[in-house]
Amino acid sequence: QPVVAVVGRPNVGKSTLVNRIIGRRQAVVEDVPGVTRDRVPYDAQWNGRAFTVVDTGGWEPDAKDRAAAIAAQAETAVVTADVVLFVVDAMVGSTDVDEAAVKMLRRSAKPVILVANKADNTSIEMEAVSLWSLGLGEPFPVSALHGRGSGDLLDAILAALPEAPAIVENRPRGPRRVALVGRPNVGKSSLLNRFSGEERAVVDSVAGTTVDPVDSLVDIGGQTWQLVDTAGLRKRVGKASGTEYYASLRTAGAIEAAEVAVVLLDSSEPISEQDQRILTMVTEAGRALVIAFNKWDLVDADRRYYLDKEIDRELRRIPWAIRLNLSAMTGRAVDKLAPALNKALASWETRVPTAQLNQWLTALVQATPHPVRGGRAPRILFATQAGVAPPRFVLFTTGPLDAGYQRFVERKLREEFGYEGSPIEISVRPRK
Ligand code: GDP
Repeated sequence: QPVVAVVGRPNVGKSTLVNRIIGRRQAVVEDVPGVTRDRVPYDAQWNGRAFTVVDTGGWEPDAKDRAAAIAAQAETAVVTADVVLFVVDAMVGSTDVDEAAVKMLRRSAKPVILVANKADNTSIEMEAVSLWSLGLGEPFPVSALHGRGSGDLLDAILAALPEAPAIVENRPRGPRRVALVGRPNVGKSSLLNRFSGEERAVVDSVAGTTVDPVDSLVDIGGQTWQLVDTAGLRKRVGKASGTEYYASLRTAGAIEAAEVAVVLLDSSEPISEQDQRILTMVTEAGRALVIAFNKWDLVDADRRYYLDKEIDRELRRIPWAIRLNLSAMTGRAVDKLAPALNKALASWETRVPTAQLNQWLTALVQATPHPVRGGRAPRILFATQAGVAPPRFVLFTTGPLDAGYQRFVERKLREEFGYEGSPIEISVRPRK
């Protein structure tokens, strides 16, 4: 989601403008001179485009050098935002204090929109024309308080935003796509047979040809699922025709085509390298994941505790995967599969509102700041969720984060918001 940052001296009406843009009144703290506000992001929408507005706030109440403070604020905005709104008071114009920021904004490659606020009437609107002299392009006269000119401003913001990414969220309605994968002999066909009573072909084979339907619709737990590459399961490609290489291509194809994968493991054997490779395929493809330990009927009761420890160790890189102990042969826990798939998919498509995400993040970095390295510690300025399926987050920071700290943030993010059964991606955008 693109980010729009609002920059300007105290008292020019930044908070009122942010309220106007997000269409709410209460949320934003009053713009009182000398009151420090943190960068607070809000979700906004205009003409069907969603973006994040960041109120870059004020600065230290007793900052000695106000010009330097506003320049720093502008610089942060420039590195973290896609579009910068530079707000001045239309009646006052630009002051000396603004100068360093204006210079910086003029040099930056980021689109800057000059907002002449408090243009409550036509005569002030006319005055605003003189702001062309700042060299920041066309001034947009706006009355944030009364709404005058805000439509034109929002149109200008949309025009300056980067191209909208393809929206994958409005997936076509229909059965969810699930891949059933695992090395030969773990029991894929046996498990499939548990559901085969309701099986129907998605694509009927054309009469007179030998073309197999690739996927089929199966009933799992009273719900219809599209099981991808059922033909591959039926023909036992891995065993009959082939090389491990071919089977692995087929597995990768099925995972790619699916939204959620069930990786079947054989509980009566140690987790093998091939099992691990299949798990990696799923996480690298960013698909939701359910791990089913099949043949649980073969596991002695007294071995289970030990086995669980061993499994925890083997799967420590994916502690978030949903695990089931089942038996295709006896039918044990097979009814747990559908709820597990639904849970994993729900996590996969979770979206956390920006405000909620940042409230949590602010508390987290306050409680546990980044460790100091060489006298400095990078700060996380704010975060947005860039997408779902799987959930993807961008952290805007003052510098690169330690790998360990980034893992800590991910772990805490999971603790807070769940994501059971889904990978999540976190990327860091440090300012240069
Ligand atoms: P695939 O290659 O993954 O499709 O595996 P199959 O479904 O062909 O199963 C391989 C072997 O494991 C067969 O002999 C099955 O009868 C056996 N098998 C499958 N599931 C179970 C199970 O839950 N318990 C036990 N004891 N054997 C199973």
